[in-house]
Amino acid sequence: MRAEQAGRAAGRGEVRTAGVVQWARGPGVGRPMVAAGGRAALGSAAETVMAATGGRRCRRLEGDAARAVLRGADTLLFDCDGVLWRGEAALSGAPAALGRLAASGKRLCYVTNNSSRTRVAYTEKLRRLGFPPAEPRHVFGSAFCAARYLRQALPDGAAAFVLGSPALSAELDAAGIPHLGPGPAALPGPAPADWAQAPLEPAVRAVLVGFDEHFSYAKLCQALRYLLRDPGCLLVGTNRDNRLPLEGGSAIPGTGCLVKAVETAAEREAFIVGKPNRYIFDCVASEFDIDPARTIMVGDRLDTDILMGNTCGLTTLLTLTGVSTLEEVRGHQESDCPARQSLVPDYYVDSIADLLPALED
Ligand SMILES: [Mg+2]
Repeated sequence: MRAEQAGRAAGRGEVRTAGVVQWARGPGVGRPMVAAGGRAALGSAAETVMAATGGRRCRRLEGDAARAVLRGADTLLFDCDGVLWRGEAALSGAPAALGRLAASGKRLCYVTNNSSRTRVAYTEKLRRLGFPPAEPRHVFGSAFCAARYLRQALPDGAAAFVLGSPALSAELDAAGIPHLGPGPAALPGPAPADWAQAPLEPAVRAVLVGFDEHFSYAKLCQALRYLLRDPGCLLVGTNRDNRLPLEGGSAIPGTGCLVKAVETAAEREAFIVGKPNRYIFDCVASEFDIDPARTIMVGDRLDTDILMGNTCGLTTLLTLTGVSTLEEVRGHQESDCPARQSLVPDYYVDSIADLLPALED
């Protein structure tokens, strides 16, 4: 159905669903089937327009559909900020929803691009905010995954130059990767000639960029020198999130800005560990027996959470408690561009708490 027809359908409050029910990218998690040519009465104009377009389609997850989708899943991967909590406050109903999911035997894992907390710190935060108990092995932050990547990619004894937080440093320690760099750094003299002659650590074979509140020209300069010294030196970024939203509509620059600075100086592209790259999902799949067709990715960002889930063949669920909006979903869904279509989730809910009724049976 074309967009203009969708608009008319929205006005009537119902829409034909011919040819747009089953998605093309393989089996999903108990997606409810609607016979081609059937009609579906939908709740709101927004839902109707979303359901009316061709290609990928996103629908509200509720009622029998929610029960079927949850019944067909044995693992749920949760993004954290904007899905489970905002800052230090749990989102209303989120701990109860996850408690019910855990009680019904679902495996819950946490997949976050935030590199400024360790796995252990995440389990403590989950406990503090009333979520069901989690073990560190259920948490896949980009700091842990970056350390895992370097452990696989670096030869024994090789070190990393790190632009990052104490948490990133702790995960590298846990993985046995020697490293230097975290904390403030000053330029080693008054002139550019001094900057280009500061000593370099011979063992460094990788530059790792995460969130670094002490990011500086001095660190950028040193990172470039390691990358120029050795064309085989790895360049790895934890994620490309460009902004970190704060309460009240403000934001601060995200790690993506720092990665871009190093890439620009080095004229090289970094390997990115975090979402939407599938490496972070591969980390989960390497630790647990994961069937993508029985796994749901729950997130609040289309360009990271949902894109990764779609890329990995997971069922994707957008919560409207964080960054992305239904308007954005509709824009992508109405586009003919395959890249934009890959940002469309299977389902959305206003909040993860909306799953509670489906978990009561
Ligand atoms: Mg988020």
